[in-house]
Amino acid sequence: MPELFSARGLSVRYGAARAVENVDLSVPEKGVVALLGANGAGKSSVLKAIAGLVPAEGEMRFAGEDIGVLAARQRVRRGIVYVPEGRQIVGSLTVAENLLLGGFFLDARMQRQRRDLMLELFPEIANRLKSPAWMLSGGEQQMLAIGRGLMSAPRLLLLDEPSLGLAPLLIRRVFERLVTIKQDTGLAIMLVEQNFRMTIKVADELYFVRNGAIVGHRSAAAIATAASRAEVVEAYL
Ligand code: ATP
Repeated sequence: MPELFSARGLSVRYGAARAVENVDLSVPEKGVVALLGANGAGKSSVLKAIAGLVPAEGEMRFAGEDIGVLAARQRVRRGIVYVPEGRQIVGSLTVAENLLLGGFFLDARMQRQRRDLMLELFPEIANRLKSPAWMLSGGEQQMLAIGRGLMSAPRLLLLDEPSLGLAPLLIRRVFERLVTIKQDTGLAIMLVEQNFRMTIKVADELYFVRNGAIVGHRSAAAIATAASRAEVVEAYL
């Protein structure tokens, strides 16, 4: 698959603290790439740097274009959408309004079309459209967050720890939905996770992150056996 996104020498600093240091990674067209690592390893900072939400150094290319100079909203227009973890939906707005936020720059017809598609994809929120979003369960809020991200038909979805705070059954449901999205839409996804077992159900490639650096990189094929999976867990997680 040709490359959709690549970063070379990506670094993020918060004041004097280095969160990400000299990271190289790439996402193929239609690929699902995961960043795995402990709390505070710098995974979210990588996603936010790609989305343009934190200042970053290094080179970033998306669909052949240098995007490092673009503002966050310009990157959204190019098709790069960041989905924070599920509790960052707007609780006081309804489910329908939250979805609309994700498609604010579409015309009315496209908004309806995309919304209907999201409700097909996430039937659990379809009959909750008029409910305030805070009333949804954790799993439903995560589905809504992803649905909101997909409203604008992105080319690269940056998904920040979708399993965070969810019960195991709901985590499984969210990941099943990601597999469907991968199969049906063919968009590219960069996923940040701590849950190794779920991540390998959807990811084509894994990057292991520690102290702001990439310490390992494997294709899904390279961890197809139980022994190879045990080896990477031992080495990196
Ligand atoms: P988590 O799963 O906890 O989000 P992470 O791997 O995504 O972990 P980051 O959130 O990217 O890690 O954080 C990397 C480092 O940068 C951590 O040491 C964190 O404390 C620090 N950090 C993150 N955001 C900020 C900020 N806005 N200001 C200062 N330091 C920050």
